[in-house]
Amino acid sequence: MHAKKDKLSLFLFIDAFGWEVKQRHPEFLEGLIQDSKPLETIPGYSSACDPSIISGLTPSEHKLWSSFYYDPEGCPYKWVRLLHFLPDAIFRRGRVRRQISKWIKRRCGITGYFQIYSVPFEVLPLFNYAEQKRIWEPGGLPHGKSIFDLLAEKGIPHHVHDSDITDDLRFEQLMSEVQNQRIDFAYCSLGRLDTLMHAVGNDHPDIGKLMQWYDRKIRALLDTAEENYKEVSWYVFTDHGMHNVTEGYDLIADIESLGLEWNKDYVAFYDSTMARIWFLDEKARKPISQCLENHSKGRILSENELKEHGIWFDDGQYGDLIFLMNSGTQIVPGFMGIKQVKGMHGYDPADLDSYASISSSRPIPESISKIQHIHKLMLEELKIRNT
Ligand SMILES: [Zn+2]
Repeated sequence: MHAKKDKLSLFLFIDAFGWEVKQRHPEFLEGLIQDSKPLETIPGYSSACDPSIISGLTPSEHKLWSSFYYDPEGCPYKWVRLLHFLPDAIFRRGRVRRQISKWIKRRCGITGYFQIYSVPFEVLPLFNYAEQKRIWEPGGLPHGKSIFDLLAEKGIPHHVHDSDITDDLRFEQLMSEVQNQRIDFAYCSLGRLDTLMHAVGNDHPDIGKLMQWYDRKIRALLDTAEENYKEVSWYVFTDHGMHNVTEGYDLIADIESLGLEWNKDYVAFYDSTMARIWFLDEKARKPISQCLENHSKGRILSENELKEHGIWFDDGQYGDLIFLMNSGTQIVPGFMGIKQVKGMHGYDPADLDSYASISSSRPIPESISKIQHIHKLMLEELKIRNT
């Protein structure tokens, strides 16, 4: 029996393990969870939420919100325009698009998470990509510091997940670090639940099986941690929940029917649950605003709302107008997916299905109510004063 190391703090992120999902699986870590609570999410996707969790900042502050933003001059992959001569059928194939995503990533030196999803090739050169760098490293955020900057500054031995491997291997790597007492802190993001619920919705029997798998993996990890450290504290948390998608809606057709000219009067990016519009000619503002103001499938987010959620950008980086779809309605076809899926997140944060969750071996203070507050918990665990 070797000597125990002093303290280990584990931050385990299960993508889309929202409060409602957690309520449906009370057996998950039953008996180990000392405290848990819902957390308010940030409108948008993991591209907005993850950077906020690791920095305590809002997207307005760290500048990462949606993945793509209008920037034809700055776009580093203009050459993809040449590819639009190839037949459409080839481009619609997921495998082909994943391969092209890899080329772009390599050629442009993008180290962050990068996917071209189903963005049409003729449209892609108009949009730059926000997450240029891997956010799980020092210097990963465009503005502000993340917990990984602080860990590096203080020289605290830590582990962070490898985004290119399966959850199974992520557990294996983390387990080995814990067994060998190499770390004081770990941040491990796990993606299987999110992927599954996009495919089957938020209440399918397979979800229970997957939660049992996570339960076994985490219990084994905690056992090993207790054997190797005098003090172990852990947090299992997420960035958002999951809605069931009840219908697809072709919003692009509505905008195109207005008779405005693409890339002269306006451009738009169609995320799965949001349309973001840039007005290139002022004359486009009125017809598009009118169309969306009275639209039955969603609503325009007001400046106040955007500010309240920390997603307001003075320079309109992510769009001059943000239209949020009704909960459960997916933009189909959209730039993030051509087909309708069973589950989606990125709807109104006030919905129960939108709420994130946090569970811990420790009492969670009253002041922790939003996902970006998780950063405070990390600082407290590490006894770092925020500067
Ligand atoms: Zn997702």
